[in-house]
Formats: sequence, structure tokens, C-alpha cells
Amino acid sequence: MKKIVLGVFVLFLPLFAKVEVAASYPYIAALVKQVGGANVEVITLAKGNWDPHFVVPRPSLIRRLARADLLILNGAQLEIGWLPPLIRRAHNPKVQPGAKGFLDLSRAVTLIDRPVSVSRAGGDVHPGGNPHYATDPFVVPVLAETVAARLESIDPGHASEYQKNAAAFRKRWDQHLQRWRKEMAPLKGTEVVQYHELFNYFLKRFGLVSVGNIEPLPGISPSSRHTMELIRLMRTKRVGIILQDVYHSPKTARFISEKTGARVVMMPHDVGAVPAADTLEHLYDTMISRLVNP
Ligand SMILES: [Zn+2]
Repeated sequence: MKKIVLGVFVLFLPLFAKVEVAASYPYIAALVKQVGGANVEVITLAKGNWDPHFVVPRPSLIRRLARADLLILNGAQLEIGWLPPLIRRAHNPKVQPGAKGFLDLSRAVTLIDRPVSVSRAGGDVHPGGNPHYATDPFVVPVLAETVAARLESIDPGHASEYQKNAAAFRKRWDQHLQRWRKEMAPLKGTEVVQYHELFNYFLKRFGLVSVGNIEPLPGISPSSRHTMELIRLMRTKRVGIILQDVYHSPKTARFISEKTGARVVMMPHDVGAVPAADTLEHLYDTMISRLVNP
């Protein structure tokens, strides 16, 4: 009798067990929760108000990664400075690069800003192209489908639920996209400057133009010479908007604002970057409302 009970238990265990997913960033975790529903347990490695390029690999993150069935990352080398050592130290064969439990979302996206040549002199934080594709809400549906497909392959017992969740998400998201496109339409052609090329996908999607960055080169702190050149350029072009991220000091942006009259917009780049951006939907709502409403 005992044997039979045990046999039944083992047979059905996968149906009750949740898929443990480690997401590198909060926007990925939010997406996985939408698609995975009650069948997944999600942990997030980085916080939304942290600099996504530099995450401190704390031991607690290694422990979390050690028990994951699936690791989902942004990719395009955004995590290159912090995630590979975590993966090595977690000693979890399920989430090693190339394994079924390793999903690089950037593979589903066409990257922009691929440098013609990579060198130290040109700044070298993003040699493979701009990894900040998630600032474009129109990229989100393909990410959701990619996540759903991988969950289906890891947990085939719940495949139909993942498909159903992804389809429902897609339907809701399409309505948001229509609304956001309408809200952003008046800003088409607007020229902006940003601290880092963090919002290029967002700007491209809605027809805004980035004319300069506060950092002189990717990953390099502002210099007074570069700042003065930027102020001259902004005066000539009458640039009225500075996009500031939440993890760099806004000091230079404020200085430029005083000299040019341009408005500093504190833009969230991920879920949790600012309190208002508490969900995936609210992330883009916040970005757009802060830009549209002075
Ligand atoms: Zn970057």
C-alpha cells in the first residue's frame, strides 16, 4: 500500500511543484509573474532603482540562484559585470549558459546602436549594441511570448496555462500600447538629451531624437568641458528636455537646466526605479506621464 501511495505522489509531484525562476531585473520578474501565474515562484536579483550595469554580487543572491530552475536575463551584456560570477558561484547546472534553464531575452530582440568598432577610447560598456531595449513597451509582447515558450518547455504539465496567460497578457498589453502611442504622439520629433543612452529604444519608438548625453562616453562621468559643449548645443537646438536616470547624480542635469532652461525629467528605467513605477504597466505610464505633463 505504501509503495502505491509513494508511486502516485512521485508521478504527480511535478504538477504541484512551482518552477523557481530567478530574474536579473524587476521588469523580467513582473513579466514572469504575468505569464507564469500560480505555477512559478519568482525572485529578482537586482533592484529597480539600482544601476543595472553594476550590481553587487551578495551571497544571498548566490543562494537564490543556487535553487533556481530557470534564470532569465536581459542579456546583450547588460549583466556582464556582475551575473557571470554569480552563476559560477551558484554551482547550479540548471542555469548555466546553454542549459534549458538559461534564457537570454536579448536573443528575441533586434539590438540598435551596434558600434562600428569597439575600443576603450569609444567607451566600452556596450560593445554588442544597446542593451536597454526594455524601455520600449512595444518589445514587451515578444518577451512575454519568449518567457511563455521557455516555461512550457521546462514545465510541460502547465503548457496550456502558460499559453493562456500569455495570450491574455498580450490582449491587455495591446490596449496599453495603443493608449501610449496616442499619449506620446504630440512629442514626435522632440529633441532631448539624456545622461546615458538608456532610453534610445523608447525615444526611437515614439519618434523623439536624442542629440547628446551628459556622460561624455558610455560609463564615463561628466566633465566640465563636455558639459559646456552640451549646453552650447542645447541652446543652438533649443533642446527643452533632459532625461535623468534615478541612479546617477542629477547634479550635472540640474546645472545644465539652470543654464538652458531645459526641464529635467526623472525617468524610471525599470519596475521599482521610482515608487510610481510599481508594475510593468505603471513603469511605462510613469515614463510617459512625466514626459508629457511638465
Ligand atoms: Zn547602458
